[in-house]
Amino acid sequence: MLNDREFLRYSRQLLLEDIGPEGQARLKRSTVLIVGLGGLGSPVSLYLAAAGVGNMILADDDQLHLTNLQRQILFRTADIKRPKAELARERLRALNPEVNYRIEQRRLTADNLEELVKRSELVLDCCDNMATRHAVNAACIEHRVPLVSGSAVSFSGQLLVLTPPFEQGCYACLYPEPEEPIRNCQTSGVLGPMVGAIGSLQALEAIKMLAGSLSALDGKLQLFDGKKHAWTTLQLRKDPACAVCGGQHENSC
Ligand SMILES: [Zn+2]
Repeated sequence: MLNDREFLRYSRQLLLEDIGPEGQARLKRSTVLIVGLGGLGSPVSLYLAAAGVGNMILADDDQLHLTNLQRQILFRTADIKRPKAELARERLRALNPEVNYRIEQRRLTADNLEELVKRSELVLDCCDNMATRHAVNAACIEHRVPLVSGSAVSFSGQLLVLTPPFEQGCYACLYPEPEEPIRNCQTSGVLGPMVGAIGSLQALEAIKMLAGSLSALDGKLQLFDGKKHAWTTLQLRKDPACAVCGGQHENSC
C-alpha cells in the first residue's frame, strides 16, 4: 500500500501505535475538505499535507492581501493579489507531491457544498464567517460527515469536534442565530499564534480520526484564553428544537 519513499517520509508518525502502516494507509485513502485557507487553514493544510492525507479539497474564493501575511503562514509577500486556493496548491505540492490537491475557488453555499462534503471523510471548518459555518455544519449533519471546526478572534480561540450520529448536537445548537458576531479579526484583531494554535489542534484531531481513532473532544467545545493561557471545556447539549439536527434522534431518548 505504501511505497519505500512513503515509509521513509512518514517514518516518525509510522512509529506511533495509533498510526502505524494501517493508519497511514487510511490517511492516504482519505479525502478532506478544508473550508477557508486563512490563519486556520494555513496550519491545517500544511500539517495534513505533510502527514500524507491523500486527497485534499482546498476551498477559498479570496485573493491574498498584505494584511493576511501577519498570520497566514502558507503565503509569501510576492503572492499578494493571487488567489489563495491556487497558491495553497502550489505550496502544498512543493511540500508533499504524493497528495492529490483539488481547488475550489467559488464561495461555498448550501448548494455547492453538498457535493464536496459527500465525497469527504472529514471536513475542517477554517472559515471566517457565520453563514459559511452554518452551511458547512448543515451539510456535515445531513451527510453524516465528521466536522472539526475552529475559530480565533483577539485572544479567544474555539475548537469543536462533531462526529456522527451527532448525539451531542451540532454547531447550530450552540449558535442558533446565524448573524455575524460583532467581534471578528477585522474589528478586534488577532495574533498569528492564536490561529496557529487552534489550526494545529484541528489538524491533530483530524489526523487521529482519519487514521482510525476516536476524538476525545467529540461533542465538546474547547475554549482557549490566549491571554491567561487557560482552557475551558464545555459539554455540548443537543437542542431538541434545532432546525439542523433536532429531528434526527427523536426516538433515541
Ligand atoms: Zn443542532
